[in-house]
Amino acid sequence: MRIPAWTEDELVLAGALVVKNGWRELRTHDREVQELSELLRSLPIHSSEERALPGFRSPDSVSRKTTDFMTNHALYAGKATRCGKPTLLMIDAFTEREAEMLQAAAALEEGIASGELHRIAPQPDEVDETGTSAIEGRLLVRRALARERDPKLRALKIRQVLRSGRVLRCEVCDFDFARAYGDLGQGYIEVHHVTPLYVSGTRETKLDDLACVCANCHRMCHRSRPGESWRTPAALREQIRKSAQDACH
Ligand SMILES: [Zn+2]
Ligand SMILES: [Zn+2]
Repeated sequence: MRIPAWTEDELVLAGALVVKNGWRELRTHDREVQELSELLRSLPIHSSEERALPGFRSPDSVSRKTTDFMTNHALYAGKATRCGKPTLLMIDAFTEREAEMLQAAAALEEGIASGELHRIAPQPDEVDETGTSAIEGRLLVRRALARERDPKLRALKIRQVLRSGRVLRCEVCDFDFARAYGDLGQGYIEVHHVTPLYVSGTRETKLDDLACVCANCHRMCHRSRPGESWRTPAALREQIRKSAQDACH
């Protein structure tokens, strides 16, 4: 068994450390490196066998990762260390949307510290069909998906929609399960977090944070692409509008 490659969650935490240090590497004996090493060894991402491997996310390896971040950044004048594509994508993510990525790191740290992220079971769609996970990390997706699947929360959202006199249908494409499937579709809809991944989870989910969507639109809201892994219903509607426009030309 070999030490597993760094996942997005781990890279988010390491990246945040480097950014907060002014894009400079940190050393093995630095307190932040020691703390991150300990944190990474506790994360519920890799198997306990993998985590027990000697050297797994040791302070040395964490320090080397911060060097990768520093030397592969566009502003670094010296020679870049060799690192994998996920690290390069993470450097891009922190460069292009630093505030959001720092927020994702904070949400991760908070969820780990409270023990919440350790308690949530893996969810079926936390990794997409190509095996990649969101740039913000798998654990935040896991938490958001677990909340969206919460039957109580879903029932409350459906009641809110019906009480307001609206019809239960997809907020993106208007699909109406009852109309399409008759009895079988009655009362069916999926709920999706309107707030982005890096924010959702830092607080209790409110009904207004949720949108009603059909199964297809919901999948498209969650489909990961490099650097982008979460869409709001409004963003997806815009995507549909654009693609319809392109089809006309
Ligand atoms: Zn839809
Ligand atoms: Zn969703």
